[in-house]
Amino acid sequence: MKESLNLIFTSAPAAVYIITFIFGVCIGSFLNVCIYRIPEHQSIVVVPSHCMSCGKKLHWYELVPLFSYIFLRGKCHGCKAKISPQYFIVELITGLLFVLVLFVKGISADTPLCWAFISALFVIGVIDARTFEIPFPIVVFIGILGAIRIAVNYATFRENWWNIVFGPVAMCVFFGLIIFFSNGRAMGGGDYKLAIAAGLFLGLKQVTLGLVLGCIIGSVIHVLLMVVKKKGRELAFGPYLGIGFGLSALWGNEMINWYLTVTGLR
Ligand SMILES: [Zn+2]
Repeated sequence: MKESLNLIFTSAPAAVYIITFIFGVCIGSFLNVCIYRIPEHQSIVVVPSHCMSCGKKLHWYELVPLFSYIFLRGKCHGCKAKISPQYFIVELITGLLFVLVLFVKGISADTPLCWAFISALFVIGVIDARTFEIPFPIVVFIGILGAIRIAVNYATFRENWWNIVFGPVAMCVFFGLIIFFSNGRAMGGGDYKLAIAAGLFLGLKQVTLGLVLGCIIGSVIHVLLMVVKKKGRELAFGPYLGIGFGLSALWGNEMINWYLTVTGLR
């Protein structure tokens, strides 16, 4: 689900990219809040922002994305405790991802949907890497995005119904078999829920591609980590699934067409 969402405009002027980057960095600031608070079951809206060490409430000038971290030199103004560089990194990466999505999708109805999808995957990836849990509310959020994308797509260009229906179904069957044959040991419960929700968003072809990419990238990086950093065999699959689904959302059709051409299937 696909180029059909791209409307008339395909390339955006430079000013739009700059605004998009600033917007993405601000969203990244919110994603940081999600990353730290959702695993602790804290509210992501009600509790005011505060220092993790001394609990000091933060002034507005300590909350400007990217700049505050540089301005405060990575330390709390009150207690001088070190602020994790993760704040800065997440904000920067989100800004860059937003620009990338705009570059690939152009000014289209699909762009905000993909911003939200990739933001959710990013939060899930970081939380899973830290805690080995995939928070269910974010998976539900992706499912809702998927439903909206189907509605938008259906209203513009009718997507093949089987590509929509069999996206989530294929993920249910695939993960169901893995869980059945491994007695539930091989795969965390969060992974298959994430894959089903992503199946709704991406459709059959792209979600399958995303899963394959996630498995390949995950095995390569995990083996490297086991060799280089002597990490244990426990694998947080969420980050790799997220990368696979994200790549598939951006370049899925191109990759599938390339594969079909190279293998002579078409
Ligand atoms: Zn402090």
